[in-house]
Amino acid sequence: MKIILLGAPGAGKGTIAKQLTLIDGSVQIATGDILRAAIDAQNELGKQAGGYICRGELVPDDLVMTLIESRLQQPDCRSGFLLDGFPRTIPQAEGLNSLLEKLAIKVDIVLNIEAPREVLMDRLTTRRTCANSECQEIYNLISKSPIKEGICDKCGSPIVQRDDETEEAILHRLETYHTKTAPLIGLYKQQGLLVTVQSDVNEGIIDIVKAKLKSI
Ligand code: AMP
Repeated sequence: MKIILLGAPGAGKGTIAKQLTLIDGSVQIATGDILRAAIDAQNELGKQAGGYICRGELVPDDLVMTLIESRLQQPDCRSGFLLDGFPRTIPQAEGLNSLLEKLAIKVDIVLNIEAPREVLMDRLTTRRTCANSECQEIYNLISKSPIKEGICDKCGSPIVQRDDETEEAILHRLETYHTKTAPLIGLYKQQGLLVTVQSDVNEGIIDIVKAKLKSI
């Protein structure tokens, strides 16, 4: 399957993407995870992206476009991909359209996950993430705590609060979502690709996606 996941930070894009990968081996491409891994590796991309991410601002479009252009051409994307956190601006969506045309790839659906603002705030302020950039497993102080406090169940690394998950950075990210990313909803609706779901029906979302994919 070839799916774009839209939704505010905290809407559950990553969780749904992971569940969808189990259906047919399509790969999750989470630009936030890739950028955080680059910061950890202290490579050129990480150096350029670090400040923006810490402040809860979007990384410049050209940096993200370069990253996606090379990632989408890796062999593991051939059987399908789930774009999680990309595109996030109109120029990125336009860039993606041109890139997909060039690669002769057609997106099946754009899954727009909605959640009330209070739910997003609660989820983000209580979210914790594995510090190991190759793992980045997500936990939640209330709904998904690790077996051993502060330690990742999967890889044993410490679990931390992300720099951009302070209340100030979260408010900034939500604001950025509304001004820069939400306009993509209309764009993909016009293209007939949009499927909107509510984040609280977790299990149901996978069934909705499966049914939609069957119908196209
Ligand atoms: P995420 O893990 O998706 O919440 O992304 C964390 C941060 O990475 C965002 O707040 C941005 O600073 C940066 N980022 C991730 N994806 C993009 C993107 N498509 N465009 C610009 N910045 C991005």
